[in-house]
Amino acid sequence: MLAELTAGYQATKAALDITKGIQALKTEAEVNAAIIDIQRLTIEAQHSLMQAQASHTALIGRITELEQEIVRLKDWETERQRYQLRQIDSSAFAYMHKPGMENGEPAHWLCTQCFDSGHRSILQPYEAGGSQRGGAQMRHRCNRCSAVVSVFYRRRPERPYVTDEPA
Ligand SMILES: [Zn+2]
Repeated sequence: MLAELTAGYQATKAALDITKGIQALKTEAEVNAAIIDIQRLTIEAQHSLMQAQASHTALIGRITELEQEIVRLKDWETERQRYQLRQIDSSAFAYMHKPGMENGEPAHWLCTQCFDSGHRSILQPYEAGGSQRGGAQMRHRCNRCSAVVSVFYRRRPERPYVTDEPA
């Protein structure tokens, strides 16, 4: 934006310098040439100022975006503090409420991939997923990033996983 403003200023100054010397011009051809120069410099100055205005508008837009991102990050930091990483099956992990931080919400599992990138996305029961170690599996899917987590089909967010639980 500074470059456009400088160019606009220089064109305006050059046009002004020509007008100061216009009295000294002898012929009509010299006056006409000076007028054409002034018109050209005025158009250049206008063009530079319009570019500066466009840059200014773009910068204001970017500042607004960044302000909104700061608000989102502050909100996310508060939200993030309510959760902790938990093992939800023998080889499955998810973020869950810390005890006492439920704020009236039902128990749920959050996608670790989304959580670690600053987004809250609940894993939803998706489809039966065959069996592992003799136990039928249920796949839970993140609708945001499509990650899939397989757990024993009877496992639920409201029933804490304990490692000695029979599969
Ligand atoms: Zn996800």
